Order: sequence, then C-alpha cells, then structure tokens
Amino acid sequence: MPNGNLTSMQKKAANPQVRPDASKYAHKDIRKQLMSMSHNKCFYCEGILLDRPKEVDHYVEVAVDHSKAFDWNNLYLACLNCNDKVPHNTIPVSAALNPILDSDADIKTHISFDKEIIFPISGSLKGKQTITKFRLDTDLLNAQRRDWIIKIDGIIIDILKKMVAEGRQSFSDEEVSAINRFMDSASPFSLMSEVYIKRKLHGLLP
Ligand SMILES: [Zn+2]
Repeated sequence: MPNGNLTSMQKKAANPQVRPDASKYAHKDIRKQLMSMSHNKCFYCEGILLDRPKEVDHYVEVAVDHSKAFDWNNLYLACLNCNDKVPHNTIPVSAALNPILDSDADIKTHISFDKEIIFPISGSLKGKQTITKFRLDTDLLNAQRRDWIIKIDGIIIDILKKMVAEGRQSFSDEEVSAINRFMDSASPFSLMSEVYIKRKLHGLLP
C-alpha cells in the first residue's frame, strides 16, 4: 500500500535505531480523532483530558515491537499519569486488560471499586497487573475520582431532596437519565461511577 505508514516503516527498516518522531503524533488531527474515539477521556483511567496535558501513547511499546511504531491501532491517548506506564519487561501488556479490545463486561470481572479506591476482584492477577501497569491507584487518580464521587453525590442529594419536597417515591425519567449519564461510557470514570451508583441506589433505579 503506497501510504505514509509504509514509507515510515521502510525508513525504519533501513535504520532500526531511528525512534519514531514524537512530533508526528502531536499532529492535531491524530489527537482529535483519538479524543473523539475516547470521548475526550484517557483510554486507561477514564479521566477527562479536555484541558489537561495528554500524550499519544504506544500501547505496545516501540522497544518491544518496532512494527507497531506507526500502527494507528497501537496509538492510545493517555493522561501523563497513565502514559508513564510500567515497562513491558516488568509487566507486558498481554498480562493486563486492554481498554479497547476487552469488553466492559470482561473488565468488570477483573477490577472494581470501593468508592474511589480501585481493586482486583477476588485477587484477579490480570486485574492486579492492570492496576499496577497503568498506575491506576495513584494518589492523583484517587483524588480525581473522589472529586467525581462528590459530584455524583451532589446530583443524587438534589434529586432526593426534590423527591421528598414533592412527595414522590420514584425518580422522574429526567432524573433517571441524569443519573444514568454518569454510567455512560462517554462519561469520566464510568466504571467507578456505575459501581458507586448501583451500590448507593441499590434497587431504586428502574
Ligand atoms: Zn489516565
């Protein structure tokens, strides 16, 4: 295929020492496309990236597989915390969950949350390695997730107050969608939010 990829790969093959040009990935169209794919979130921690520094990350490190240096499918957008992932020789990506290729249902069998604190389910090794590899348990992330829970609590409390004031026993459709929005994959920290909301409102949501 006479495309830019092949040219770059040929260049690379001629000189295997050449590292991919980082500026190539800073191109705004690539970032824009990745931002829209990820709903403006970090692929790994689900933190909002809109006004935060971000990097185009090679999911499989170039040092491990040179052929993936220019592979579009190997480019993920990451916050600075997650871009600093644990090296492949310590924990290979194959030992961790993949935020794109693994289904939400799959991911939910390996990792969960107690409020903002992430943990591997039943000591899942894959869950544990995912948390370690992508540093999903840093103080910074815990603080961001804690802030998000405060936001969820605020919305739920407002809704419950309104229900009491109006003598209602159940949520209006509008209230249900306001709550469901936190669990949508387009929302930040959607997995944590889902676990938190379902635990908090057990059985109350339709
Ligand atoms: Zn992140």
